[in-house]
Amino acid sequence: MFKKLITCLVSILIVMFTFVPIQVQAQQKDFHNHYYKMTKVLQESTCTEQGYAIFTCQHCGKTVERKINYAEHNFTEWEEYKKEEKRSFQVRECKVCGEQETRVVVKSNRYIGGNIVICIIALVIVALIIKFYYKD
Ligand SMILES: [Zn+2]
Ligand SMILES: [Zn+2]
Repeated sequence: MFKKLITCLVSILIVMFTFVPIQVQAQQKDFHNHYYKMTKVLQESTCTEQGYAIFTCQHCGKTVERKINYAEHNFTEWEEYKKEEKRSFQVRECKVCGEQETRVVVKSNRYIGGNIVICIIALVIVALIIKFYYKD
């Protein structure tokens, strides 16, 4: 009688240890990392306000509402506001929020070109001076 009870208990334990992991595995199969993709934009973003959209999981179809990134500024063309001999100071402004961006454009090509010409002339003069000096 006692032996029968032990056998019974052992078989119950074996059954438990066999089926419990299977159940856990089944639960793990049900659980997945949702893979969301934006499916519908509810409100477009601007550069000052985040919009929001519906995202749908590609595996189970679960939907969530999430904020979406700010939009890029909508800038005007670059405009020159200050000019120097070699540099041009430019500004542009966002048409939506008014944020300003500035940049400096260096016009160096002509300047360097002029320098090269001056250098060549100087070299020629030096060469001529040396030539005349050694003649005497
Ligand atoms: Zn999912
Ligand atoms: Zn803006």
